[in-house]
Order: sequence, then structure tokens, then C-alpha cells
Amino acid sequence: MTARLHIDQTGTTDESRTGSGADAWDWLRDAACVGADPELFFPVGDSDPAAEQTERAKAVCHSCPVESRCLEWALDTGRTSGVWGGTDEEERRRLRRNERRRVPAPRGRQASGPGRARRPRTH
Ligand code: SF4
Repeated sequence: MTARLHIDQTGTTDESRTGSGADAWDWLRDAACVGADPELFFPVGDSDPAAEQTERAKAVCHSCPVESRCLEWALDTGRTSGVWGGTDEEERRRLRRNERRRVPAPRGRQASGPGRARRPRTH
């Protein structure tokens, strides 16, 4: 894969996308962010320009045919920074929190209180 994706900024190398695990990355071939400026997806700070940058990145995601797959990947791999699958950091934090609340305690074990059921941590 020679296309430049902002995914490269997260430490995922081209090498990790080749070989036996290459199929796992097939969905990236259709990514709308191919060729986009990787910096767009990593706004810095809470300023108005950063918020505008976040919205521009999300707009790219919302036109992306693999948006839901990307979001799933971002949640599964614990992406804590940047815009992925049309969500920013805070939105993914909220999704993870809500998901933890929905996961029931394993049989034979009780959760230690409301909202304490956990899925394995990914990061
Ligand atoms: S959803 Fe956004 S970050 Fe994910 S592949 Fe598509 S454009 Fe890139």
C-alpha cells in the first residue's frame, strides 16, 4: 500500500499491514482519507480553529464508505487521539463508557456496582 493515510501517525506501519495480516486492513483501501493531509485528523487543543479542524475531519469521515468499520477499529484498538470513524476523542470515550455499562457481568460473578461491568481493556 503506497497511499498515505493518517493511520500512519498512530504507529501503525506499512509493514504491519502486509503479510498474513494484510486482509485485516482491506477496508482501508476504500478510506476517504487516502491522500488527505494527516494533520487534519489530529487537531491540537480546544481552540476554535481546532474545533473547525475536527469538524472538517469528521466531514471527510462522514463521506467515507468504511466509516463504521473505522470506528469499530478505533474503539477496539483504543485510539485515544485524533478523529476516527467520524468521532473525536471525547465521543469515543463516551462510547466506550456506555459500552462498559451495557456489558453484563460474567455468569457466576457480580459487578461491583452500577456501571462497573467491564470489557477487557484495549489500551
Ligand atoms: S472514517 Fe475517517 S478516519 Fe476512518 S478511514 Fe474513513 S476517512 Fe479515514
